[in-house]
Amino acid sequence: MRVKLAATIGPASASDEVVEKLILEGCRIFRINFSHGSPELWRGWARRIREIAGKLGIEVALLGDLKGPSIRLGVLPKPIHLAAGEEVSFARNPRDEREVPLPEQRVFQQLAAGDMIVTDDGRALLQVLEVNEDNARVRALTELVLSSRKSIVIRGKEFPVEELSSEDAEALKIAVEEDFDLLGMSFVSRARDLTLMREKINELGGELEIIAKIETPSAVANISEIVNAADAVLIARGDLGMYFSLEEVPKLQNKITQASLAVGKPVMVATQLLGSMVNAPVPTRSEVVDVVNSVREGVDVLLLTGETAVGRYPVEAIRWLRRIVESYESEVARQEYKLDSVLGDRFAMGVVSLAESLDATLAVYTKSGSMARRISRFRPKTRVYAATPSKKVLRKLNILWGIQPISVESHEYGEGLNELEKKLVELGLVSKGEALVLTYGLIDEPFHIVKIIQIA
Ligand code: ATP
Ligand code: MG
Ligand code: MG
Repeated sequence: MRVKLAATIGPASASDEVVEKLILEGCRIFRINFSHGSPELWRGWARRIREIAGKLGIEVALLGDLKGPSIRLGVLPKPIHLAAGEEVSFARNPRDEREVPLPEQRVFQQLAAGDMIVTDDGRALLQVLEVNEDNARVRALTELVLSSRKSIVIRGKEFPVEELSSEDAEALKIAVEEDFDLLGMSFVSRARDLTLMREKINELGGELEIIAKIETPSAVANISEIVNAADAVLIARGDLGMYFSLEEVPKLQNKITQASLAVGKPVMVATQLLGSMVNAPVPTRSEVVDVVNSVREGVDVLLLTGETAVGRYPVEAIRWLRRIVESYESEVARQEYKLDSVLGDRFAMGVVSLAESLDATLAVYTKSGSMARRISRFRPKTRVYAATPSKKVLRKLNILWGIQPISVESHEYGEGLNELEKKLVELGLVSKGEALVLTYGLIDEPFHIVKIIQIA
Protein backbone atom coordinates (compact mmCIF):
# COMPACT_ATOMS: atom_id res chain seq x y z
CA MET A 1 0.00 0.00 0.00
CA ARG A 2 1.13 3.50 -0.81
CA VAL A 3 -1.34 5.27 1.44
CA LYS A 4 -0.48 4.40 5.04
CA LEU A 5 -2.93 3.18 7.66
CA ALA A 6 -3.11 4.17 11.31
CA ALA A 7 -5.33 3.07 14.20
CA THR A 8 -6.13 4.55 17.59
CA ILE A 9 -5.70 2.00 20.35
CA GLY A 10 -8.41 1.83 22.97
CA PRO A 11 -10.33 -0.69 25.02
CA ALA A 12 -11.64 -2.35 21.84
CA SER A 13 -8.23 -2.99 20.33
CA ALA A 14 -5.72 -3.28 23.16
CA SER A 15 -5.54 -7.08 23.14
CA ASP A 16 -2.52 -8.87 21.66
CA GLU A 17 -4.73 -10.64 19.19
CA VAL A 18 -6.31 -7.48 17.78
CA VAL A 19 -3.00 -5.58 17.62
CA GLU A 20 -1.44 -8.46 15.71
CA LYS A 21 -4.33 -8.60 13.27
CA LEU A 22 -4.25 -4.84 12.74
CA ILE A 23 -0.56 -5.03 11.84
CA LEU A 24 -1.10 -7.97 9.50
CA GLU A 25 -3.93 -6.06 7.79
CA GLY A 26 -1.53 -3.20 7.09
CA CYS A 27 -1.73 -0.84 10.07
CA ARG A 28 1.70 0.77 10.51
CA ILE A 29 0.98 3.58 12.97
CA PHE A 30 -0.61 3.11 16.38
CA ARG A 31 -2.04 6.20 18.06
CA ILE A 32 -2.46 6.41 21.78
CA ASN A 33 -4.69 9.30 22.78
CA PHE A 34 -3.36 10.79 26.03
CA SER A 35 -6.77 12.39 26.61
CA HIS A 36 -8.10 9.04 27.77
CA GLY A 37 -6.81 6.36 30.10
CA SER A 38 -3.85 6.53 32.47
CA PRO A 39 -0.05 6.68 32.29
CA GLU A 40 0.23 3.03 33.34
CA LEU A 41 -2.15 2.02 30.58
CA TRP A 42 -0.25 4.03 27.93
CA ARG A 43 3.09 2.56 28.93
CA GLY A 44 1.66 -0.94 28.93
CA TRP A 45 0.08 -0.52 25.51
CA ALA A 46 3.19 1.01 23.98
CA ARG A 47 5.32 -1.89 25.20
CA ARG A 48 2.85 -4.54 24.06
CA ILE A 49 2.58 -3.02 20.59
CA ARG A 50 6.34 -2.91 20.22
CA GLU A 51 6.63 -6.49 21.41
CA ILE A 52 4.00 -7.79 19.01
CA ALA A 53 5.44 -5.83 16.08
CA GLY A 54 8.90 -7.13 17.03
CA LYS A 55 7.66 -10.72 16.90
CA LEU A 56 6.19 -10.11 13.47
CA GLY A 57 9.40 -8.44 12.32
CA ILE A 58 7.53 -5.31 11.26
CA GLU A 59 8.47 -1.84 12.50
CA VAL A 60 5.44 0.23 13.47
CA ALA A 61 5.35 3.85 14.57
CA LEU A 62 3.87 4.94 17.89
CA LEU A 63 1.98 8.22 17.86
CA GLY A 64 1.26 9.84 21.22
CA ASP A 65 -1.47 12.43 21.09
CA LEU A 66 -1.33 15.19 23.69
CA LYS A 67 -4.60 16.47 25.09
CA GLY A 68 -3.65 20.13 24.81
CA PRO A 69 -6.09 22.79 26.02
CA SER A 70 -9.17 20.84 24.91
CA ILE A 71 -12.23 21.25 27.09
CA ARG A 72 -13.64 18.00 28.34
CA LEU A 73 -16.54 17.02 30.53
CA GLY A 74 -15.65 15.37 33.81
CA VAL A 75 -16.59 11.84 34.75
CA LEU A 76 -20.33 11.19 34.64
CA PRO A 77 -21.76 8.37 36.77
CA LYS A 78 -23.75 7.43 33.67
CA PRO A 79 -24.38 9.03 30.27
CA ILE A 80 -27.12 11.68 30.12
CA HIS A 81 -29.57 11.49 27.21
CA LEU A 82 -31.27 14.72 26.20
CA ALA A 83 -34.07 15.23 23.72
CA ALA A 84 -34.06 18.40 21.58
CA GLY A 85 -35.39 21.25 23.74
CA GLU A 86 -34.47 19.65 27.06
CA GLU A 87 -32.40 21.66 29.54
CA VAL A 88 -29.50 20.67 31.75
CA SER A 89 -26.84 22.37 33.90
CA PHE A 90 -23.09 22.19 33.43
CA ALA A 91 -21.45 22.57 36.84
CA ARG A 92 -17.90 22.93 38.12
CA ASN A 93 -18.95 21.00 41.21
CA PRO A 94 -22.11 19.03 40.46
CA ARG A 95 -24.54 18.69 43.35
CA ASP A 96 -26.26 15.60 41.99
CA GLU A 97 -26.35 13.16 39.07
CA ARG A 98 -28.50 15.42 36.93
CA GLU A 99 -25.79 18.08 36.68
CA VAL A 100 -23.05 17.60 34.11
CA PRO A 101 -19.53 17.92 35.55
CA LEU A 102 -17.37 20.46 33.72
CA PRO A 103 -14.30 21.02 35.91
CA GLU A 104 -12.98 24.00 33.95
CA GLN A 105 -12.87 27.45 35.50
CA ARG A 106 -11.68 29.11 32.26
CA VAL A 107 -14.81 27.92 30.50
CA PHE A 108 -17.21 29.54 32.94
CA GLN A 109 -15.17 32.74 32.69
CA GLN A 110 -15.54 32.86 28.91
CA LEU A 111 -19.05 31.49 28.48
CA ALA A 112 -21.94 33.88 27.83
CA ALA A 113 -25.69 33.51 27.35
CA GLY A 114 -26.42 32.87 23.67
CA ASP A 115 -23.18 30.91 23.07
CA MET A 116 -23.39 27.66 21.15
CA ILE A 117 -21.74 24.58 22.64
CA VAL A 118 -20.89 21.85 20.16
CA THR A 119 -19.93 18.27 20.87
CA ASP A 120 -19.94 14.78 19.34
CA ASP A 121 -17.67 15.82 16.43
CA GLY A 122 -20.19 18.49 15.35
CA ARG A 123 -23.42 16.57 15.52
CA ALA A 124 -24.71 17.74 18.89
CA LEU A 125 -25.60 21.38 19.70
CA LEU A 126 -26.52 23.10 22.97
CA GLN A 127 -27.41 26.73 23.52
CA VAL A 128 -26.28 28.57 26.65
CA LEU A 129 -29.22 30.16 28.50
CA GLU A 130 -27.52 31.62 31.57
CA VAL A 131 -24.11 31.48 33.22
CA ASN A 132 -22.53 32.25 36.55
CA GLU A 133 -19.01 31.54 37.77
CA ASP A 134 -19.47 27.81 38.27
CA ASN A 135 -22.67 26.84 36.59
CA ALA A 136 -24.26 27.16 33.16
CA ARG A 137 -27.83 26.40 32.20
CA VAL A 138 -28.04 25.06 28.64
CA ARG A 139 -30.68 23.75 26.25
CA ALA A 140 -30.11 20.89 23.81
CA LEU A 141 -30.91 21.90 20.23
CA THR A 142 -30.46 18.36 18.95
CA GLU A 143 -31.08 15.01 20.52
CA LEU A 144 -27.78 14.06 22.16
CA VAL A 145 -25.89 12.02 24.72
CA LEU A 146 -23.34 13.49 27.13
CA SER A 147 -20.77 11.05 28.48
CA SER A 148 -17.53 11.05 30.46
CA ARG A 149 -14.51 12.98 29.12
CA LYS A 150 -16.34 14.06 25.99
CA SER A 151 -14.70 17.05 24.38
CA ILE A 152 -16.76 20.19 23.79
CA VAL A 153 -16.22 23.39 21.86
CA ILE A 154 -17.71 26.84 22.28
CA ARG A 155 -18.23 28.18 18.78
CA GLY A 156 -16.26 31.34 18.14
CA LYS A 157 -14.18 30.97 21.32
CA GLU A 158 -10.79 29.36 21.39
CA PHE A 159 -8.54 28.32 24.24
CA PRO A 160 -5.05 28.56 22.78
CA VAL A 161 -2.00 26.55 23.82
CA GLU A 162 -0.31 28.35 26.67
CA GLU A 163 2.02 26.70 29.13
CA LEU A 164 2.25 22.95 28.88
CA SER A 165 -0.22 21.62 31.48
CA SER A 166 1.11 19.23 34.09
CA GLU A 167 -0.95 16.45 32.47
CA ASP A 168 0.57 17.12 29.05
CA ALA A 169 4.04 17.39 30.55
CA GLU A 170 3.64 13.96 32.12
CA ALA A 171 2.32 12.47 28.89
CA LEU A 172 5.21 13.99 26.93
CA LYS A 173 7.67 12.47 29.37
CA ILE A 174 6.10 9.06 28.84
CA ALA A 175 6.23 9.50 25.07
CA VAL A 176 9.97 10.21 25.31
CA GLU A 177 10.70 7.43 27.81
CA GLU A 178 8.74 4.83 25.86
CA ASP A 179 10.47 5.90 22.66
CA PHE A 180 7.38 7.03 20.78
CA ASP A 181 8.10 8.19 17.23
CA LEU A 182 5.48 10.85 16.63
CA LEU A 183 3.79 13.41 18.84
CA GLY A 184 0.37 14.81 18.02
CA MET A 185 -0.02 18.38 19.23
CA SER A 186 -3.64 19.40 19.74
CA PHE A 187 -4.97 22.93 19.18
CA VAL A 188 -1.89 24.32 17.51
CA SER A 189 -2.73 27.89 16.51
CA ARG A 190 0.59 29.17 15.21
CA ALA A 191 4.13 28.14 14.32
CA ARG A 192 5.42 29.30 17.70
CA ASP A 193 3.43 26.58 19.50
CA LEU A 194 5.43 24.03 17.55
CA THR A 195 8.83 25.61 18.09
CA LEU A 196 8.21 25.77 21.83
CA MET A 197 7.17 22.11 21.84
CA ARG A 198 10.29 21.20 19.89
CA GLU A 199 12.41 22.93 22.54
CA LYS A 200 10.67 20.92 25.27
CA ILE A 201 11.26 17.67 23.40
CA ASN A 202 14.92 18.53 22.94
CA GLU A 203 15.28 19.37 26.63
CA LEU A 204 13.98 15.90 27.44
CA GLY A 205 16.33 14.36 24.89
CA GLY A 206 13.44 12.99 22.85
CA GLU A 207 13.36 12.18 19.15
CA LEU A 208 9.74 12.83 18.29
CA GLU A 209 8.41 14.22 15.06
CA ILE A 210 5.73 16.79 15.74
CA ILE A 211 2.38 16.41 14.05
CA ALA A 212 0.38 19.62 14.08
CA LYS A 213 -3.31 18.86 14.61
CA ILE A 214 -5.36 21.37 12.68
CA GLU A 215 -8.66 21.77 14.50
CA THR A 216 -9.48 25.44 15.05
CA PRO A 217 -10.21 28.57 12.99
CA SER A 218 -6.90 30.13 14.04
CA ALA A 219 -4.94 27.09 12.88
CA VAL A 220 -6.71 27.28 9.53
CA ALA A 221 -5.96 31.01 9.29
CA ASN A 222 -2.26 30.42 10.03
CA ILE A 223 -1.94 27.25 8.01
CA SER A 224 1.09 28.23 5.94
CA GLU A 225 3.34 29.10 8.89
CA ILE A 226 2.13 25.96 10.70
CA VAL A 227 2.86 23.55 7.84
CA ASN A 228 6.32 25.06 7.55
CA ALA A 229 7.10 24.54 11.22
CA ALA A 230 5.58 21.05 11.61
CA ASP A 231 7.04 17.69 10.62
CA ALA A 232 3.61 16.52 9.52
CA VAL A 233 0.01 17.66 9.72
CA LEU A 234 -3.15 15.98 10.97
CA ILE A 235 -6.55 17.13 9.78
CA ALA A 236 -8.60 16.69 12.96
CA ARG A 237 -12.01 16.63 11.36
CA GLY A 238 -13.74 15.98 14.67
CA ASP A 239 -12.84 19.34 16.14
CA LEU A 240 -12.98 21.16 12.80
CA GLY A 241 -16.57 19.95 12.55
CA MET A 242 -17.31 21.56 15.91
CA TYR A 243 -15.70 24.93 15.18
CA PHE A 244 -17.02 25.13 11.62
CA SER A 245 -20.27 24.10 9.97
CA LEU A 246 -20.08 20.52 8.76
CA GLU A 247 -20.39 21.50 5.08
CA GLU A 248 -17.17 23.53 5.47
CA VAL A 249 -15.14 20.49 6.50
CA PRO A 250 -14.44 19.00 3.03
CA LYS A 251 -13.26 22.40 1.78
CA LEU A 252 -11.01 22.79 4.81
CA GLN A 253 -9.63 19.29 4.34
CA ASN A 254 -8.71 20.14 0.77
CA LYS A 255 -7.15 23.45 1.73
CA ILE A 256 -5.05 21.94 4.52
CA THR A 257 -3.98 19.01 2.35
CA GLN A 258 -2.88 21.31 -0.47
CA ALA A 259 -1.02 23.63 1.91
CA SER A 260 0.90 20.72 3.45
CA LEU A 261 1.74 18.92 0.24
CA ALA A 262 2.87 22.16 -1.37
CA VAL A 263 5.72 22.32 1.14
CA GLY A 264 6.27 18.56 1.17
CA LYS A 265 4.87 17.77 4.61
CA PRO A 266 3.02 14.48 5.10
CA VAL A 267 -0.71 14.78 5.87
CA MET A 268 -2.91 12.54 7.95
CA VAL A 269 -6.69 12.66 7.96
CA ALA A 270 -8.77 11.51 10.92
CA THR A 271 -12.24 11.16 12.38
CA GLN A 272 -15.25 9.26 11.13
CA LEU A 273 -13.54 7.84 8.08
CA LEU A 274 -15.61 4.72 8.65
CA GLY A 275 -17.60 5.98 11.65
CA SER A 276 -20.55 3.63 11.23
CA MET A 277 -18.16 0.71 11.67
CA VAL A 278 -18.12 1.41 15.41
CA ASN A 279 -21.32 -0.64 15.32
CA ALA A 280 -21.36 -2.42 11.98
CA PRO A 281 -18.98 -4.77 10.16
CA VAL A 282 -19.41 -2.98 6.82
CA PRO A 283 -19.05 0.76 6.06
CA THR A 284 -21.71 2.89 4.39
CA ARG A 285 -21.38 3.89 0.75
CA SER A 286 -20.85 7.52 1.72
CA GLU A 287 -17.98 6.60 4.03
CA VAL A 288 -16.33 4.71 1.19
CA VAL A 289 -16.69 7.79 -1.02
CA ASP A 290 -15.19 9.98 1.71
CA VAL A 291 -12.13 7.73 2.02
CA VAL A 292 -11.74 7.58 -1.76
CA ASN A 293 -11.83 11.36 -1.85
CA SER A 294 -9.03 11.58 0.72
CA VAL A 295 -6.97 9.06 -1.21
CA ARG A 296 -7.40 10.98 -4.46
CA GLU A 297 -6.55 14.26 -2.76
CA GLY A 298 -3.21 12.71 -1.89
CA VAL A 299 -3.17 12.27 1.89
CA ASP A 300 -0.32 10.15 3.23
CA VAL A 301 -2.12 8.53 6.16
CA LEU A 302 -5.67 7.49 7.00
CA LEU A 303 -6.17 7.40 10.78
CA LEU A 304 -9.03 5.53 12.43
CA THR A 305 -10.17 6.82 15.83
CA GLY A 306 -13.40 5.60 17.45
CA GLU A 307 -13.64 2.72 14.95
CA THR A 308 -10.61 1.00 16.46
CA ALA A 309 -10.55 2.58 19.96
CA VAL A 310 -14.07 1.71 21.04
CA GLY A 311 -15.69 0.06 18.00
CA ARG A 312 -16.95 -3.49 17.70
CA TYR A 313 -15.09 -4.15 14.44
CA PRO A 314 -11.55 -2.73 14.68
CA VAL A 315 -9.95 -5.32 12.40
CA GLU A 316 -12.71 -5.13 9.82
CA ALA A 317 -12.33 -1.33 9.78
CA ILE A 318 -8.64 -1.51 8.91
CA ARG A 319 -9.37 -4.23 6.38
CA TRP A 320 -11.93 -1.95 4.69
CA LEU A 321 -9.49 0.95 4.56
CA ARG A 322 -7.03 -1.38 2.91
CA ARG A 323 -9.54 -2.53 0.30
CA ILE A 324 -10.48 1.03 -0.57
CA VAL A 325 -6.89 2.23 -0.67
CA GLU A 326 -5.78 -0.62 -2.90
CA SER A 327 -8.56 0.12 -5.37
CA TYR A 328 -7.99 3.87 -5.63
CA GLU A 329 -4.45 4.85 -4.63
CA SER A 330 -3.22 4.80 -8.22
CA GLU A 331 -5.65 7.66 -8.91
CA VAL A 332 -3.79 10.06 -6.63
CA ALA A 333 -3.47 13.59 -7.95
CA ARG A 334 0.11 14.55 -8.85
CA GLN A 335 0.99 17.09 -6.25
CA GLU A 336 1.81 20.71 -6.79
CA TYR A 337 4.99 20.41 -4.81
CA LYS A 338 6.95 23.65 -5.00
CA LEU A 339 10.54 22.61 -5.55
CA ASP A 340 12.85 24.85 -3.67
CA SER A 341 16.41 25.52 -4.70
CA VAL A 342 17.75 22.67 -2.58
CA LEU A 343 19.75 20.39 -4.85
CA GLY A 344 18.56 17.29 -2.97
CA ASP A 345 14.99 18.01 -4.05
CA ARG A 346 15.92 18.28 -7.71
CA PHE A 347 17.97 15.11 -7.46
CA ALA A 348 14.99 13.26 -5.95
CA MET A 349 12.76 14.51 -8.75
CA GLY A 350 15.29 13.34 -11.34
CA VAL A 351 15.59 9.89 -9.79
CA VAL A 352 11.81 9.48 -9.66
CA SER A 353 11.50 10.45 -13.27
CA LEU A 354 14.34 8.10 -14.26
CA ALA A 355 12.69 5.17 -12.45
CA GLU A 356 9.32 5.98 -13.97
CA SER A 357 10.66 6.22 -17.49
CA LEU A 358 12.39 2.84 -17.11
CA ASP A 359 9.32 1.41 -15.39
CA ALA A 360 11.79 0.39 -12.69
CA THR A 361 11.46 -0.21 -8.98
CA LEU A 362 13.20 2.58 -7.10
CA ALA A 363 15.25 1.75 -4.02
CA VAL A 364 17.13 4.23 -1.86
CA TYR A 365 19.49 3.93 1.03
CA THR A 366 18.92 6.65 3.59
CA LYS A 367 20.41 7.35 7.00
CA SER A 368 18.07 10.06 8.23
CA GLY A 369 15.08 9.32 6.02
CA SER A 370 15.26 12.65 4.24
CA MET A 371 15.80 11.18 0.76
CA ALA A 372 12.67 9.05 1.30
CA ARG A 373 10.71 12.17 2.26
CA ARG A 374 11.89 14.01 -0.82
CA ILE A 375 10.93 11.12 -3.08
CA SER A 376 7.52 10.59 -1.49
CA ARG A 377 6.58 14.21 -2.25
CA PHE A 378 6.49 13.47 -5.97
CA ARG A 379 3.98 10.63 -5.51
CA PRO A 380 6.01 8.32 -7.75
CA LYS A 381 4.15 5.85 -9.96
CA THR A 382 6.77 3.15 -9.41
CA ARG A 383 7.32 1.13 -6.26
CA VAL A 384 9.76 2.71 -3.82
CA TYR A 385 11.79 0.99 -1.11
CA ALA A 386 13.77 2.93 1.45
CA ALA A 387 16.44 1.13 3.45
CA THR A 388 18.04 2.33 6.64
CA PRO A 389 20.04 0.84 9.49
CA SER A 390 18.15 2.95 12.05
CA LYS A 391 15.07 1.41 13.66
CA LYS A 392 13.85 4.86 14.59
CA VAL A 393 14.08 6.11 11.01
CA LEU A 394 12.46 2.91 9.78
CA ARG A 395 9.44 3.54 11.99
CA LYS A 396 9.16 7.16 10.92
CA LEU A 397 9.10 6.12 7.26
CA ASN A 398 5.67 4.67 8.01
CA ILE A 399 3.98 8.04 7.55
CA LEU A 400 5.31 8.64 4.06
CA TRP A 401 3.13 8.04 1.03
CA GLY A 402 4.47 5.31 -1.23
CA ILE A 403 7.58 4.45 0.77
CA GLN A 404 8.13 0.82 1.81
CA PRO A 405 10.68 0.59 4.65
CA ILE A 406 13.42 -2.06 4.51
CA SER A 407 15.79 -2.78 7.36
CA VAL A 408 19.52 -3.11 6.56
CA GLU A 409 22.68 -3.36 8.67
CA SER A 410 25.13 -1.23 6.67
CA HIS A 411 26.12 2.17 7.95
CA GLU A 412 27.95 3.15 4.79
CA TYR A 413 26.39 4.30 1.50
CA GLY A 414 28.08 2.03 -1.04
CA GLU A 415 27.73 -1.03 1.16
CA GLY A 416 24.16 -0.02 1.92
CA LEU A 417 23.25 -0.13 -1.77
CA ASN A 418 24.73 -3.61 -2.18
CA GLU A 419 22.93 -4.92 0.87
CA LEU A 420 19.68 -3.34 -0.25
CA GLU A 421 19.92 -4.90 -3.70
CA LYS A 422 20.61 -8.33 -2.23
CA LYS A 423 17.76 -8.00 0.22
CA LEU A 424 15.21 -7.00 -2.41
CA VAL A 425 16.09 -10.07 -4.45
CA GLU A 426 16.08 -12.37 -1.40
CA LEU A 427 12.70 -11.11 -0.25
CA GLY A 428 11.32 -11.55 -3.75
CA LEU A 429 10.47 -7.84 -3.97
CA VAL A 430 12.08 -7.55 -7.39
CA SER A 431 11.95 -10.36 -9.92
CA LYS A 432 13.94 -11.59 -12.87
CA GLY A 433 14.04 -9.23 -15.82
CA GLU A 434 12.82 -6.29 -13.78
CA ALA A 435 14.69 -3.00 -13.79
CA LEU A 436 15.87 -1.53 -10.51
CA VAL A 437 17.17 1.99 -9.85
CA LEU A 438 19.31 2.21 -6.73
CA THR A 439 20.70 5.32 -5.12
CA TYR A 440 21.07 7.34 -1.92
CA GLY A 441 20.51 10.96 -0.98
CA LEU A 442 22.99 13.57 -2.22
CA ILE A 443 25.99 13.60 0.05
CA ASP A 444 29.05 15.72 0.21
CA GLU A 445 31.34 13.54 -1.92
CA PRO A 446 33.12 14.19 -5.20
CA PHE A 447 30.99 11.54 -6.95
CA HIS A 448 27.54 10.03 -6.60
CA ILE A 449 26.12 6.64 -7.50
CA VAL A 450 22.88 5.95 -9.33
CA LYS A 451 22.84 2.29 -10.31
CA ILE A 452 20.51 0.88 -12.93
CA ILE A 453 20.25 -2.87 -12.73
CA GLN A 454 18.36 -5.43 -14.69
CA ILE A 455 17.68 -8.30 -12.31
CA ALA A 456 19.30 -11.44 -13.66
P1 ATP B 1 -9.42 13.93 20.09
O1 ATP B 1 -9.96 15.29 20.18
O2 ATP B 1 -8.00 13.87 20.53
O3 ATP B 1 -9.68 13.22 18.80
P2 ATP B 1 -11.50 12.20 21.16
O4 ATP B 1 -12.10 12.22 22.53
O5 ATP B 1 -12.31 12.57 19.99
O6 ATP B 1 -10.19 13.06 21.22
P3 ATP B 1 -10.48 9.89 19.74
O7 ATP B 1 -9.08 9.49 19.97
O8 ATP B 1 -10.83 10.60 18.49
O9 ATP B 1 -10.97 10.72 21.01
O10 ATP B 1 -11.30 8.53 19.88
C1 ATP B 1 -12.64 8.39 19.52
C2 ATP B 1 -13.42 7.79 20.66
O11 ATP B 1 -12.74 6.71 21.25
C3 ATP B 1 -13.68 8.82 21.76
O12 ATP B 1 -15.08 8.86 21.94
C4 ATP B 1 -13.04 8.26 23.01
O13 ATP B 1 -13.99 8.27 24.05
C5 ATP B 1 -12.67 6.84 22.66
N1 ATP B 1 -11.31 6.54 23.12
C6 ATP B 1 -10.15 6.85 22.50
N2 ATP B 1 -9.09 6.42 23.20
C7 ATP B 1 -9.60 5.83 24.30
C8 ATP B 1 -9.02 5.21 25.45
N3 ATP B 1 -7.71 5.11 25.59
N4 ATP B 1 -9.85 4.75 26.40
C9 ATP B 1 -11.18 4.86 26.26
N5 ATP B 1 -11.80 5.43 25.21
C10 ATP B 1 -11.03 5.91 24.24
MG1 MG C 1 -11.57 12.53 17.91
MG1 MG D 1 -9.24 16.87 19.13
